[in-house]
Amino acid sequence: MYTMYANAQIGLAPRYDFRLHAFEFRIREIKIADSLFYIAVKCDTMKKLIFLLQACFAFTFCAWGQKTYLYCGRLIDGSSNTVRKAVTIVVDGKRIVQIKSGYLKADPDDRVIDLKNRTVLPGFIDCHVHLEFQQSKSSFSDGFRNNEADVAFLSATYAKATLMAGFTTVRDLGGSGVNVSLRNAINKGVAIGPNILTAGKAISASGGHMDESVGLREGAYRHTPGPEDGVADGTDEAVKAVRYRFKEGADLIKIASTGGVLDLSKDGTGAQFSIKEIQAIVSTAQDYGMPVACHAHGAEGIRRAILGGVNSIEHGTFMNNECMELARKHGVWLVPTLTAGRAVADSAKIPGFFPQVVAGKAAMVGPQIQKTFAKAFKAGVKIAFGTDAGVYPHGKNYLEFGYMTEAGMPVMEAIKAATANAAELLGISKDRGGITIGKIADIIALDGDPLRDMAAFGRVIFVMKEGTVYKGQ
Ligand SMILES: [Zn+2]
Repeated sequence: MYTMYANAQIGLAPRYDFRLHAFEFRIREIKIADSLFYIAVKCDTMKKLIFLLQACFAFTFCAWGQKTYLYCGRLIDGSSNTVRKAVTIVVDGKRIVQIKSGYLKADPDDRVIDLKNRTVLPGFIDCHVHLEFQQSKSSFSDGFRNNEADVAFLSATYAKATLMAGFTTVRDLGGSGVNVSLRNAINKGVAIGPNILTAGKAISASGGHMDESVGLREGAYRHTPGPEDGVADGTDEAVKAVRYRFKEGADLIKIASTGGVLDLSKDGTGAQFSIKEIQAIVSTAQDYGMPVACHAHGAEGIRRAILGGVNSIEHGTFMNNECMELARKHGVWLVPTLTAGRAVADSAKIPGFFPQVVAGKAAMVGPQIQKTFAKAFKAGVKIAFGTDAGVYPHGKNYLEFGYMTEAGMPVMEAIKAATANAAELLGISKDRGGITIGKIADIIALDGDPLRDMAAFGRVIFVMKEGTVYKGQ
């Protein structure tokens, strides 16, 4: 393990821009040294201390000047269709500063990472995860036992598993709000995980996908859920729910315009928000610069969401030809979550895994997602990679690549869905989603060639996020 990773573990913020603030530190160092010098003329011990301090600062400044040279055997950059061979990527601080053919000679102070036998790619982006949650047989009862702190500790392990699987950015599409704290903890360097954009709590109508009181006896939930909990009816409450999410620190808005599979409501596909409610949500979100992602299974809910102005349809299970045409016309993305579809369909076959009402929906919705994805891709709907991680174990996000290609998408297109396309949907293309000069150094390496062997996606042996190495060598 590299010391930079160790630094992240002990709380030295990897996001901190040392270079920008190095001058400030130097001034402070000089001031401290001046004061100490006055005392030191009378105190020999203090002289030794000053020497030690100076040595430490000299060493640290020297380390800050260090660049990292990545020798890449094969390079897939996330935007072009060609694979480059024998390339050097130079990383300075958090950014990529040079990409050159051949293996460049590094200075003695620089770090060299040998990936000559590997395939190097941009860190993957998963546009649909739930880092607070991981589905199991006890998920429903866990909801009554776990406090927020329990959820937080678990979510930190899920975040770490996600990063180690090569996913350097994720979009968290809903939880209790712990996901906002998790994002902040990772940004501060006190937890290890991917760069997170989070919706905080997602929003649905009463009785909808986010209404946690559905299916429970009266009074079992602490109060009737409202906009503060992510449940809204009518345009006024819809506006309020969006403003609550902004107040709580969300980066974007997630809504559900149809029922869902894993909630206890009896219907998973019918429309649940009116176009007016969706429009109110979208226009309020736009006031705060927040895009809107919409969970939708049934065609009518998908149609209303697109006409209401959302940026992406999540799942899109029963997307029909009319909706595909509308999605193309309005430039709306489809985030397929094929892995979740497969996982819930498989779990539904295990007696007792889901409550009965969920098992029925899972068996119906699960297998359909991949068929619809195949049609939508052929129809030219824009696709961004998203898996619904949490519905299946975190860290297995790469399975989606297999399901996408199984449905007819070329491997290189699937890679772009998880890099350039995902970055475009998330509005972070300037910094992420590719290996080009100037972009943030989110770089991974696979053992093997994913264009020949899909299993290579599961063999991530190197992970660099924002110039810091978290896995490998
Ligand atoms: Zn989801």
